[in-house]
Amino acid sequence: MKPYPIRCVSIVIPVYNEQYSLPQLLRRTEAACRMLRHDYEIVLVDDGSRDDSAHLLEEAATREDSPFVAVILNRNYGQHAAIMAGFEQCKGDVVITLDADLQNPPEEIPRLVAEAEKGYDVVGTVRGNRQDSALRRYPSKLINLAVQRSTGVAMSDYGCMLRAYRRTIIDAMLACRERSTFIPILANSFARHTTEIVVAHAEREHGDSKYSPMRLINLMFDLITCMTTTPLRLLSIVGFAMAGLGVLFAAALIVLRLVFGAGWAGDGMFVLFAVLFVFTGGQFIGMGLLGEYLGRMYSDVRARPRFFVEKVLRGQPAMPPRAITVDGLSSSNDQVLS
Ligand code: UDP
Ligand code: MG
Repeated sequence: MKPYPIRCVSIVIPVYNEQYSLPQLLRRTEAACRMLRHDYEIVLVDDGSRDDSAHLLEEAATREDSPFVAVILNRNYGQHAAIMAGFEQCKGDVVITLDADLQNPPEEIPRLVAEAEKGYDVVGTVRGNRQDSALRRYPSKLINLAVQRSTGVAMSDYGCMLRAYRRTIIDAMLACRERSTFIPILANSFARHTTEIVVAHAEREHGDSKYSPMRLINLMFDLITCMTTTPLRLLSIVGFAMAGLGVLFAAALIVLRLVFGAGWAGDGMFVLFAVLFVFTGGQFIGMGLLGEYLGRMYSDVRARPRFFVEKVLRGQPAMPPRAITVDGLSSSNDQVLS
């Protein structure tokens, strides 16, 4: 891993009805950025707040020599969409995201930048002393485990948005066309070197979490569909298992019927179960098959870039472009033998 030279650091913060946290957020973030040796900008995205947040952001951004950039969205699109909007506007070599509610201490920014400078594509964080209810902690643990399994990148805390991304990862994410995304996982799908540091986590001081149970469920599905289409394949697997069991059950019934006689078999009542198993299994297999097509269509519709070339090294100078002949006319002055 080679050290990564950084000229400019961008901070991207999504803001939704956070007027009470904003004054402290702006002050603490700016103070943390002043500790950096690099240029910096702080991009705040107002995600259609209904309170005074947008106004406060505009004020901060129009100050003279302000490091703040205010991006105002016309309505509420959700945290991850807001962060994407921020990515579109920022120019840093390293981009750091954090929450506006001060649960992620902005004072950790220099540490994240230092890690990114070592050459990591993504620097994640683990909440040292997570200040959320157990109802939020346990499902989140489960999800972290599932993500680890399916992305192959070992990170233990995907819920914490205090993260640093290298420019190439930001560009890769911006090139993804899907609407619902979960940024930390999307980023990891393009990252090679990742690391994690432990950061403090504070309780929310002002207001409540912007995630209602319904929105959390939605976020969880965004997370799953962003990373994998395995659940669709699960349908076929369940179907095959069920149909297989049905067939085995039927075979066992026939053998036992022959051995113990018609009285034992309850006049064929259990055969019904065996038949039912096989048919239900068949239906699941059919759905799974549809799922396989759907999964492929989904990945085509998302139109994620197939790959990103980091660099191309050549021993010899590149070949001059070949002349193209269209209708017998050469497009360059070289003689083309056709
Ligand atoms: N947020 C947003 N749009 C939304 C919901 C949340 O921009 O629709 C922002 C919010 O202002 C905060 C961050 O996303 O900066 C995280 O939200 P919250 O603290 O409510 O989530 P939690 O910490 O409960 O997961
Ligand atoms: Mg929060």
